[in-house]
Amino acid sequence: MPNDQSPVELVTVPCLSDNYAFLVHNAATGQTALVDAPEAAPIAAVLKERGWALSDILITHHHDDHIDGVAALRDGARVIGAAADAHRLPPLDLAVSEGDEIEVCGQRTEVLDVSGHTLGHIAFHMPDPAIAFTADSLMALGCGRLFEGTPEQMWQSMQKLRTLPPKTTICSGHEYTESNARFAQSIDPENADLILRIKDVNSARAAGKPTVPSVLDDEMKTNPFLRADDPLLKKAVGMVDSKDAVVFAEIRQRKDNF
Ligand code: ZN
Ligand code: FE
Repeated sequence: MPNDQSPVELVTVPCLSDNYAFLVHNAATGQTALVDAPEAAPIAAVLKERGWALSDILITHHHDDHIDGVAALRDGARVIGAAADAHRLPPLDLAVSEGDEIEVCGQRTEVLDVSGHTLGHIAFHMPDPAIAFTADSLMALGCGRLFEGTPEQMWQSMQKLRTLPPKTTICSGHEYTESNARFAQSIDPENADLILRIKDVNSARAAGKPTVPSVLDDEMKTNPFLRADDPLLKKAVGMVDSKDAVVFAEIRQRKDNF
């Protein structure tokens, strides 16, 4: 989580059955940004309770469980999404692409193309508070299912996200961590970091607490989808001589059938 010196406050808002939306608030400027809008009511409730009004809505991808609340919540907020997906997103005030830098809540925010789950899925990275909104690309102990992109594209996206600073807070879109953990352990049972993390995940869930956001450094050590080029993981799945993208494709497929 961002430390006390962080220029912004981050609030995780559970929505629908297992989605997360995120609010970023800058007390100095009074601005508030929402990342993804699975449904309006729980987000509106947090805004009301805090006395915040949305200045921006950032959309990661076009699936209903990330955009359904936009129309009810926008009310003058600047709606930002991928130019490539403008035809299937709510009307955008700002269409962005890989490499664009925008200012959100007074924070420099970088746009990354992280296609794979969908084509046109983007992530938003705020380097100063060290937060990345990855939605259904990189997830806690997992990655999104490949609905539109190829395994090669998702592996490229994983490698891109892996270059962010290790302390980066990873805000992903769903509470899928327990099932991701069971899969990760099935293919990587000797991983001591993973064993420790699964204990934390299980106790958080038993206490009804979210396991999202997570920290990139922990994902690097324990998330199999970030480690398709790691000789130890290749060995664990019996693919020592296979190319990285082939290993990634195999573990993604094994997860689909898990
Ligand atoms: Zn999705
Ligand atoms: Fe989703």
